[in-house]
Amino acid sequence: MARKNRDEPWVTEEAERAAPAEPCWLCGRPLGKTVDRFHPIPKSRGGRDTVAVHPICRETIDANFTASELVRHAQGGIPLTDNETVARFVKWVAGKPADFHSATKAGR
Ligand SMILES: [Zn+2]
Repeated sequence: MARKNRDEPWVTEEAERAAPAEPCWLCGRPLGKTVDRFHPIPKSRGGRDTVAVHPICRETIDANFTASELVRHAQGGIPLTDNETVARFVKWVAGKPADFHSATKAGR
């Protein structure tokens, strides 16, 4: 039984499977299993960088900002939570589990 000690392969495997350490760009909670990529500056406006967000956070952004507004926020350094609806969403979602995703429909 030759047990080769090859840098403990399970360690790297585990690291790869783990969720990214970066928090959600919008709400700051840890990300869950499903991670959406969001363009702070929309692709249509030449934005290339993406940030990681929860799907529910992405939907909230999509529902509350047009492409031009996103550009204005990104370029002016204005946080999206400057929008009252988004600020309220972030507060509301703060206590939810990372994979929580019910209710943009049910909750009105
Ligand atoms: Zn989020």
